[in-house]
Amino acid sequence: MIKFDNVTFQYENAFSPALSNVSLEIPDGEFVAIVGHNGSGKSTLAKHVNGLLLPVTGTVTVNGLDTRVEDNLLKIRQNVGMAFQNPDNQLVTTIVEEDVAFGPENLGVAPSEIRARVDEALADVGMSDYAEFAVHHLSGGQKQRIAIAGILALKPQILVLDEASAMLDPSGRAELLSTVHKLHKQGMTVLMVTQYMEETTGCDRIVVMNRGKIVLTGTPSEVFCHPDLLMESNLVPPEVVTVRDSLKQLGFSLSDNVLTAGQLAEELCPLL
Ligand code: ADP
Ligand code: MG
Repeated sequence: MIKFDNVTFQYENAFSPALSNVSLEIPDGEFVAIVGHNGSGKSTLAKHVNGLLLPVTGTVTVNGLDTRVEDNLLKIRQNVGMAFQNPDNQLVTTIVEEDVAFGPENLGVAPSEIRARVDEALADVGMSDYAEFAVHHLSGGQKQRIAIAGILALKPQILVLDEASAMLDPSGRAELLSTVHKLHKQGMTVLMVTQYMEETTGCDRIVVMNRGKIVLTGTPSEVFCHPDLLMESNLVPPEVVTVRDSLKQLGFSLSDNVLTAGQLAEELCPLL
């Protein structure tokens, strides 16, 4: 569904490329997490998915449409919803349901269809009860879910989140993550940039970036088997994985699938 073919990108005033020879294929329905320390190129990669940035060399295609062909951009952007860090920058009106309706209204969608889309989108993010609430009364996590409802009302097939949880407290982050997992289960293709390694354990695949390059990719169990490679990219695996590995060194036989506290408890208790 999304294909990066040997993509290189350099900002005009920069000394080195922000993306170098990035190739990546994301099939329909996959949930991919992108991790990497600050400046590794995650946002630059995310902005290539909907043509906010265009490759200097190489190609990005979405559903077979090349982002460099201007006539494709409207179609691509209708298909790719983007959520960013600050929910306040993504909400445009004062009332929740008006905000969710804003996108389809601008596209000229019929009012009855808008009503249906707004109700469905609010239900999808678990915010139906808040339809008539004032946006400024919501928590950060709730605002971010409303921002996502606004994206869903445009009916995209792909959701790109660029550190959308970064400004949220732990409960807001948990709300947002479970919403994203729910959308993924309903068939959404998800590309989630995050700085929280714990958020990646339930994804289909993790892509690790360093200095504009993809340095490691695999399932969470595969990626977290390489703490050395992660360290080279200035990343630390989730705490549970570190505890798991320490326990393994003490002789406990634990599988690589242990990535969360629950999974650790499940494997460890019978051994104790
Ligand atoms: P990340 O999202 O992983 O923190 P970015 O994609 O934002 O990384 O940045 C990748 C590289 O590109 C960094 O070296 C950053 O300084 C540089 N960069 C990002 N945005 C711009 C810009 N608008 N102009 C020049 N350089 C930029
Ligand atoms: Mg970024």
